[in-house]
Amino acid sequence: MSDLSELDAASVTVWGGEERYLLDRATQVPVVHSVAFGYPDFEEWYDVATGVAEGHIYGRNTNPTVAVFEEKIRLLEGGEAATSASTGMAAISNTLHALLRPGNRVVSVKDTYGGTSLLFTDFLPSFGITCDLIDTTDTPAIERAVSEGCDLLYLETPTNPTLKVLDLRRLIAAGHGVNATVVVDNTFATPMNQLPLALGADLVVHSATKFLGGHADALGGVVVGRSDLVKKVYQYREINGATLDPMAAYLLLRGMKTLQIRLERQAENAMAIATFLEAHPKVTRVNYPGLASHPQHELAASQMTGFGSMLSFAIDGGLEAVKGFLPHLKLAHRAANLGAVETTVGPPATTSHVECTPQERAALGIPEGLVRYSAGIEHVDDLLADLAHALEVV
Ligand SMILES: *Cc1c(COP(=O)(O)O)cnc(C)c1O
Repeated sequence: MSDLSELDAASVTVWGGEERYLLDRATQVPVVHSVAFGYPDFEEWYDVATGVAEGHIYGRNTNPTVAVFEEKIRLLEGGEAATSASTGMAAISNTLHALLRPGNRVVSVKDTYGGTSLLFTDFLPSFGITCDLIDTTDTPAIERAVSEGCDLLYLETPTNPTLKVLDLRRLIAAGHGVNATVVVDNTFATPMNQLPLALGADLVVHSATKFLGGHADALGGVVVGRSDLVKKVYQYREINGATLDPMAAYLLLRGMKTLQIRLERQAENAMAIATFLEAHPKVTRVNYPGLASHPQHELAASQMTGFGSMLSFAIDGGLEAVKGFLPHLKLAHRAANLGAVETTVGPPATTSHVECTPQERAALGIPEGLVRYSAGIEHVDDLLADLAHALEVV
C-alpha cells in the first residue's frame, strides 16, 4: 500500500494498518488468539523482548490483531503513536494514572462522561491528586483555573448528554501556556468530525465501544498522540492488565471500515430529527450542535467538520413524560450505549449520569425530562414517524 497518510480518512478506515499482518494471502486480518509468541532463536527473542526489534512476546502486552486496530486509529487521528485498552474507561483511567503523580493538579470540566467524572471527584483525589472541575461553557473560568497551575488539562467535546461544546483551540493554548498535558476525549465526534491532535492536543482518548466499533458488540478503548506519552500509558496498561481482547479488536476493526458512511448517514438523520423536534410543541428544548439555535453552533462549526449523531431533548412534563414516551418508540433500543447502527435512547438518570442524584443532575443543567438520542442508520422517514407517534401518545 502506498503512503496511507496521503489517503482520505474514508479510505484509511478500510485499508489502514492491515497489510503488514495479512497471512498466507488472506485479504482479512487474522484474529490471533495466541497468548504467547515463540522464538526458537535466543538472540531474536532477546531483541524483541528488550524492544530492539519489532514483534510480540505476550498477549497482555501486544498482539497482532490489536496492533492493526491501534494502527488504524493512529492513522485516522493523525498521531505519532497509539495504544489500546479493554474499555474506554480503561484507556482513560490508565492514561490518568500513568501520567499523574501525588501533588499534581488536573483541570477539567463538570460535564465529562460519568465514569471519568468519578475519577476526578473520588479516585484521583485519594491518590493526592487535586482535580478542579469548572463550568463547561465558561471558557474564561477554565483558562483562569489552568493559569493557576495545572499538570493535565482534560477536555471532552461535545459533552454527554447536553452536547455542550468546548473551545479546543483556546483551551489547548491555555494548557500549553502552563506546560500542561492536554487530553481530549473524542468519543462523541470521532476522527471523522474532529481532530484534536491537529488542533494541538497531546493525546486523544476514545471509547471505541461507541462509534468506532459502531455495532454495540465489542468493548474497547484507545489512546493516540505524542509517542513519549503513549509509551508511558502503554507501560502502565501492560502492568495494570486492562488489555484489549483480540476478538474485540477484530470486531472494532470490522466496524471501523464503515465508520465514514455510518457517520454520514447518522449525522443526516440527527440533523433532520433535531430540526423536527425543535418545532414540536411537546418538546421544550433540543441540544444538537448542528442547529443554528445551539448556543455554540459557530464554535462547533469552526472546529468540527460534522456535528455527529448525538442529540438530546427535553419533553414537556419531566421524567413522568419521559417514562410515558420511551415505551412507544419502536425503532430505538432503550439502553445505556450509544453510537451503534441502531438508534439508541435513554434518560441520563439511567445512562450517562446514573451515579448522580437528581439534584446533582440539575446542577449540571440536566433536566429530569431529558432524553439522550443516538441516531442510527435507519431511514430517516421511519425514525421521524416513530418519534412523531411516541410524542403524540405521551
Ligand atoms: C462510553 C464513554 C466512555 C467510557 O467508555 P467504555 O468503553 O464504556 O468504558 C468514555 N467517554 C465517553 C464520552 C463515552 O461515551
